[in-house]
Amino acid sequence: MLFIYNCLDIKFSQNIVYLLIPAAGSGKRMKAGKNKLLINLKGKSLLYWTLKAVFQSKAIKWVGVIGQPYDKDEIILSIKEFANKIKWIKGGNTRQESVRNGLNALPSDASKVLIHDGARCLIKSELFDKCSFELENNDAVIFAIKVTDTIKIVNKDNYIKETPDRDFLYAAQTPQGFSVPKLKKAHDLATDNKWSVTDDASLFEKLNWPVKIIEGNSSNIKVTSPLDLQIAELFIKNIS
Ligand code: C5P
Repeated sequence: MLFIYNCLDIKFSQNIVYLLIPAAGSGKRMKAGKNKLLINLKGKSLLYWTLKAVFQSKAIKWVGVIGQPYDKDEIILSIKEFANKIKWIKGGNTRQESVRNGLNALPSDASKVLIHDGARCLIKSELFDKCSFELENNDAVIFAIKVTDTIKIVNKDNYIKETPDRDFLYAAQTPQGFSVPKLKKAHDLATDNKWSVTDDASLFEKLNWPVKIIEGNSSNIKVTSPLDLQIAELFIKNIS
């Protein structure tokens, strides 16, 4: 079940909110030969810009960065301004595995957690505040935007099978916020059942647990391709 919510006011969460940043990818689609979060954007790493927004948020009290051991030294150097404010967590072979490692590394008193992909470096800090606030009354909240393209579902030979009604299509973003015990349970069940997903909300959907959508921001792109990098450079000008 999805609830649609369009929030104009920013209200602040009273709870302590924990944040996990998956940053353990390989950057294959970027073709940069290294983790795309280490790519230089206006003199700083891509991950630096993500963390800059994180630490401007009033809601976040604890931050875990999930990365591959072979990237650790370079990542820590590239985010040295924040290095003593983050906990380093070892990444997994997939995003799903990385998030699971992150959940297991949370302090025992963590009851709510936000997950935000390190690759979304244009995030505005208010979105963390908004997500934390919505999480006070929900077990799962995600940012998403209405799609503007017509989407085709295809078969394995690339012939179209179906065109879903665009009015019901959203593109999921991060941050995504969750109750910690519920998300941990969902990840455990995913491991037991060999479910493979590309975001955490998908696990709630598999279990028929409600997820609330907050209308997101189209500038909050996930930097994936070289073109995204050029777009990010243009936008960084406005936030640096
Ligand atoms: O590959 P994709 O861009 O979808 O990854 C989304 C986020 O998940 C990125 O920030 C990436 O660093 C992270 N990731 C991870 N562990 C992996 C693969 C991806 O933390 N094994």
